[in-house]
Formats: sequence, structure tokens, C-alpha cells
Amino acid sequence: MSAAHGPGLPARWFDGRSARARPAELRLLPAPDGPGLHLRALDGAGETLRLAHRQVGWPERWSATRPPSRVLLDLGAHGSLQIDDVPAWQAAVARAGHRPSLAERMQTRWPVLLGVLLLVAVGLGAFHRWGTPWLAAQLTRQVPLGWEQRLSGQALARLDERLLKPSRLAPARQVELRAGFDRLAGQIDPRLRRYRGYAPPFELQFRAGMPANAFALPGGTIVLTDDMVEQAARLPAGAGDTALLGVLAHEMGHVLHRHGTRMVVEQGVLQVGLGLALGDVSTLLSSGASLLTGLAYQRGHERESDCFAIALMRQAGLGTAPMADLLGGIEAGRAAAPGPAASAPKPAAQPGRRADWFSTHPDTAGRAERLRAGQPCA
Ligand SMILES: [Zn+2]
Repeated sequence: MSAAHGPGLPARWFDGRSARARPAELRLLPAPDGPGLHLRALDGAGETLRLAHRQVGWPERWSATRPPSRVLLDLGAHGSLQIDDVPAWQAAVARAGHRPSLAERMQTRWPVLLGVLLLVAVGLGAFHRWGTPWLAAQLTRQVPLGWEQRLSGQALARLDERLLKPSRLAPARQVELRAGFDRLAGQIDPRLRRYRGYAPPFELQFRAGMPANAFALPGGTIVLTDDMVEQAARLPAGAGDTALLGVLAHEMGHVLHRHGTRMVVEQGVLQVGLGLALGDVSTLLSSGASLLTGLAYQRGHERESDCFAIALMRQAGLGTAPMADLLGGIEAGRAAAPGPAASAPKPAAQPGRRADWFSTHPDTAGRAERLRAGQPCA
């Protein structure tokens, strides 16, 4: 026996043929695919056994600081092997060049665990950042207009119940504004339509109960508040209606880019997917409607809608500078009267659950500048 091998590790061999433990000695032999095992019985005729790395069920080292009291190797058809001298076993394993599995490394070395967790987090983050929007865009193409309209009907009914009030605008004024809105909608160039073949019928609705505001619902319904109309009326003659048309053009941009649907799909990929899978349309609609009323602000969507408004207003031969003035006027009004208590009969807004044209559009100065310049977006 060569000196390199030295004495073997004492072990107890349960060979599967008899119930008793047989004294044995064990050597680990380095091999390219992991150490093999050489076993020699110390009783009887000194029977030997050679097993390749893959033929042995190697124990995992659960903790680097608290080694197990004994090691058990699974030898398959040849039974099992028990080693009581754990430190000697671990030293032999290390000498033989055994590479611990990833699971083992995760259990014994926290930096490896941390690294794996980090990779998982980065992967999830990347999916959230790029995968979800991409998936949402693909799914949005498949959402039928009728689905959007039913969802929006529910969302508006809920807003009417809890927040909005009937408009107090004179019927003649409503007719006048609606005529301008319809004319503008009729001037939308097909090239401005982001989704080919998606041409929802636009409908303008008036409501009170909310500060100066406008918002779009998927499927073509756009809501304008009385306060917004009144705020526009303070602009110089003629500019007010142009400003309102600009705001409405911006909301048409949200509709044609299907931003609301995209956000519902994006935020509710799981719920919507489950709803579709289970075929429960009412759950699907109500969860969609609740998501819709709690929409998060998305800066990219606002920029797209501003660009759409600039393009559409140019087509209609109208400027967007009055819209910038309207924006500035609303901001100045809010700065002067920050709380709902400051002015007389305004109902308190419900933070976090309103589709507020203004508060969901930060960066007012930058937007106003872009609208005032009226330059088409690249
Ligand atoms: Zn917007």
C-alpha cells in the first residue's frame, strides 16, 4: 500500500445482507467527476468495493460551524456506510477535491446564499421593469373594446357613488363643449393611432365633486369637471375653450395609447390571468375596476399623451399654449389654497383613489414649457 494513501478512515458498513455493522476502512480517490470511494471490509475475507462518485449518495454538510455527529453515506445496492470521525471525514473529502453542490454551498456559506438571493431579486426586478410592460403591451392588444367599455362603466359608476356629483354646467354649455370635442375627435389622423384598428367611440361626460380635473377611461369615455371648465373661463377670451380642447386631446391620447388598460393589465397580470383561467368574469371586472380607480401615475404615459395632444391640436390648427396657461392657473390656485378647508364648498378629495388630472401630472413646469412651445415630439 502506498504512503500517499495512508491508513483509511474507519467506518461501519451496513452491507444490506446482514443486520450487523461490519468494520471497514474507507478511502476517497480523486477523480475528474468527483472523488470515488474505495471500501475494504476488515472482517472475513477482506472484501473490497469500488464505487464511482455518482454511485454514492453523498451527505450534505448542513452547517459549517455545527458539523453532524456522524456521517451517513448511501451506497445504493451495497447498503450504507457510517463514519463517526466527522472532522477526519471532512478533511478527507476536502483532500479528494469534492466540490459541494450549490444547495450545500448555500447552506454552509451565507455569501453564496446572498449571491443567489441577489440574482433572484435582479431577475425579478428585470422582469418587473421590462418583462411586465412587454407582456402587458402584448396582452393589451388582445383586450376587446367591449371589455374596456364594461370595465369603464363599472369604474365610473363607482366614482359616481363615492366621489363625483352631477354636473351643474348649463346644458347649452355642455352641448357647445361636446361639439368641439366631437370635431376634434373627428380630426385624429390614423397615423396618431398607436394600436392599429383600435378606434373607440369617444364620449365626453361632465361631472362635479372634484377639483379642476379631467380623466380618461379605457374605451373612450372622458370626464371633465365643472371646476376645470370654470378655471378655463378665467383665461383671456377664446383661449379658455382652446385650453379645454388641449386637455381633452391629452385625454384622447391616454385612450388611444390604451394607458388605462395597460396599467390594469400590468398591475393585475396575476388577478386578471387567474380570472380568465377560472372564467369568472364578474370577479375579473370588479378587480379590474378597483385597480382602475387606484391607478398609479406613470410619467411615460403622460409624456406620450402630451405629445399626442400637441400633434392633434396642430392638425386641428390650434395651439397648446392656452393649455399650458390653464395648467399654470390651476397650480397657482392650489398653491394659494393648499387645503380643502381654505375654500368654501369644495368637497374634500380622497387622496390615493382619484384619477386627478392635475395631481397625477407632476413636473408641471416642464410639461407647461413643452406645451407652450408646441413642438411635435420626435
Ligand atoms: Zn394624463
